[in-house]
Amino acid sequence: MSTPVADTAPRVSPELAARIDAIFDSQMTHRYGVMRTTVRERRAKLRKLLSSVYGHRDALKDALFKDYHKPAPEVDMTETVVTTAEIKHTIRHLRRWMKPQRVRPTLATLTTHSAIHYQPKGVVLIMGPWNYPFHLLLNPLASAIAAGNCAILKPSEFTPHTTSVIQSIIREVFTPDEVAVVEGGVEVAQYLLSKPFHHVFFTGSPGVGRKVMAAAAEHLTSVTLELGGKSPLILDDSASFQDAADKIAWGKFSNNGQTCIAPDYLLVPESRRDAFVELLKAAIDYRFGPLESLPDSPDYARIISDAHFQRLNGLLEDALQDGARIVYGGQQAPARRYIAPTLLVDVSRESRIMKEEIFGPLLPILTYRSLDEAIAFINGGDKPLALYLFSGRRSVNRKVLSETQFGGGCINDIFLHYFHANLPFGGDSTSGFGKSHGFFGFQAFSNARGILHHHRFNPVKLMYPPYTRFSRWLIDLGVRYL
Ligand code: NAD
Repeated sequence: MSTPVADTAPRVSPELAARIDAIFDSQMTHRYGVMRTTVRERRAKLRKLLSSVYGHRDALKDALFKDYHKPAPEVDMTETVVTTAEIKHTIRHLRRWMKPQRVRPTLATLTTHSAIHYQPKGVVLIMGPWNYPFHLLLNPLASAIAAGNCAILKPSEFTPHTTSVIQSIIREVFTPDEVAVVEGGVEVAQYLLSKPFHHVFFTGSPGVGRKVMAAAAEHLTSVTLELGGKSPLILDDSASFQDAADKIAWGKFSNNGQTCIAPDYLLVPESRRDAFVELLKAAIDYRFGPLESLPDSPDYARIISDAHFQRLNGLLEDALQDGARIVYGGQQAPARRYIAPTLLVDVSRESRIMKEEIFGPLLPILTYRSLDEAIAFINGGDKPLALYLFSGRRSVNRKVLSETQFGGGCINDIFLHYFHANLPFGGDSTSGFGKSHGFFGFQAFSNARGILHHHRFNPVKLMYPPYTRFSRWLIDLGVRYL
């Protein structure tokens, strides 16, 4: 058993602890074999994983509908294809990623040949949230496999049906001494975190991210933290308001707003707010149907849990008490954990809704008079995970990009940067650190080793002691010109 970690004292049953220990120990032993696998072997595993994901496509739709009423086309769009595209991209490029990458010599190392060799970290822990419970476990897994690691997956306890699909896929493709799924809640997560993994890849809330990092620090385990935060959307006067409304209607309200990179609030030019609200209302109606029939619609997901429902309701009540007005939506059906797409104006910047990540279908629409004011407001908070700018002016794009800090984002779109496998994805500070997707995911699960080759002739030897007048002159030259 591992050493208990501050704030992560294991509270699992002795039987479960023994089972986790056995999986972990078997992976620690087996990892050397996995580490030595060739590109051909790793690609074969990824192909098997890909075909199993396709084989479970319908089961996944059923599972996510049972877990939180997620519409089937949304499952295909935001879970299945996101996973299959990532696996295919990895298979396509793995040979290049695994090849030692030659680097040019510097002046001081002119006579050498050097390369970066990516070596697997070893045995890694991947912990996922509930909001995209499938691809947020399987995509990092694809990167971990590509990099040659063994892995334990810890899915969220809030999506049990999806977890059983993941279990079935993993059992079909891997043996537990290479990849295993360990199910359970907080206590299981804490027990896992007390083990000396070689890397922890965590996707979840900033609060839990802090605990994960503290636990990992006990073993000096490296971490990738994919966290959340309040992602703003700035609408500039020069943008196409119709296009923005259309994209926001989908980007904010698909998955019922429970998306880490969904726009958390809008910043709209003061003089055009009401006109924009009308466009947004029409766009939501068009995408999801009239509000009256929405509670019965199969095309609108639900809130994940009663606790989360209560939290959102609390945010809304608090905002209304502080003077906010609902200009669209607001309807709720607690028994079905249904909250309509809800647009809020006149929201106090001091309300809780403007302090916490919303993570639901409530959208505050704030106004600004100058771009400087909008930027200052964003910079007054934590660094967001994403930022979206709708603008038709390059000078505005340049200004916003250079004067704000955030993980990543889009100009004139929402989410698409997430689907671009050649872009790094991740946060900055409180919204996370470390990057994922494509080559960046492969890197996250690898140790980039710098290996330098040399031959017997080494000019640096001329600077070795004893320090003669000549060697001192050479050293002096080195200090000045290297
Ligand atoms: P969460 O942090 O509550 O849970 C994530 C995982 O941590 C789960 O597996 C859970 O079992 C485990 N966990 C919970 N409490 C723990 C504790 N005390 N110690 C150890 N492990 C613990 O997150 P969530 O509610 O499932 O997901 C929502 C959050 O995730 C939001 O903040 C959202 O922004 C963020 N998120 C980020 C990304 C991203 O890619 N950056 C993607 C999706 C979600």
